[in-house]
Amino acid sequence: MIEELDKLIELQETDTNLRRLKKIIETAEARRAVIEQEFEQHAFSIREIQNRRDSNSEKRTGHEREIAENRTYLERAERNLKHAQNQKEYETAMREMDALQKAIGQAETSIVELLEESETVEKELADRADEISSLDGRRDAALREFDTSLAADKQEFATQTTHRAAAFATLPERLAAVYDRLAQRSRDGIAVAEVINGSCNACHISLRPQVQVEVRRGNEIITCENCSRILFVRPATSEAAA
Ligand SMILES: [Zn+2]
Repeated sequence: MIEELDKLIELQETDTNLRRLKKIIETAEARRAVIEQEFEQHAFSIREIQNRRDSNSEKRTGHEREIAENRTYLERAERNLKHAQNQKEYETAMREMDALQKAIGQAETSIVELLEESETVEKELADRADEISSLDGRRDAALREFDTSLAADKQEFATQTTHRAAAFATLPERLAAVYDRLAQRSRDGIAVAEVINGSCNACHISLRPQVQVEVRRGNEIITCENCSRILFVRPATSEAAA
């Protein structure tokens, strides 16, 4: 009977491991997506800063172009002023010059503001330079590590599945049927429960002393009176109790 109990314990350990691996494999896609998403958020926030820098630079270029154009117009207006034939031409040139000088002044102010902004943006980029340069590498490494670990888990799942079938086949038919029925009945798939501190570790009910003695003796399959699971004690626990 001891040998059969050992087989049941091992089967339970294998099945628990298989359940754990199955969960890992089933949730892999979602967990991988979370990793990708985290890195995408970093990349997004970096792109946002880079876009601000590019847009700032574009605006400055625009203002510089505007100033250059207006200076040309201003020169023309100055010539017009010099060669004004009458009061009306004179006033028109003056008004034009005023407007152009004002526009140039505004564009220059804008450039100063943009340069200040640009300093802040450049500083942000400099502060995060390490993060930016290493982001792709870290993302690839994290995904590679995830994939490697998942491949190992899939491999172990296959190995354990084969092992499980072989272990199950060595059990007497009646015991195998009891095990399967118990395992399928419970949500956690536990058919064989350890006795810890005199309690069934599956349903946590305190076992009668007589039941504990019988489990410790290990001469026959003892089941929990509350949840019907097959009970066992580990040798170390057994010694400690004795
Ligand atoms: Zn129980």
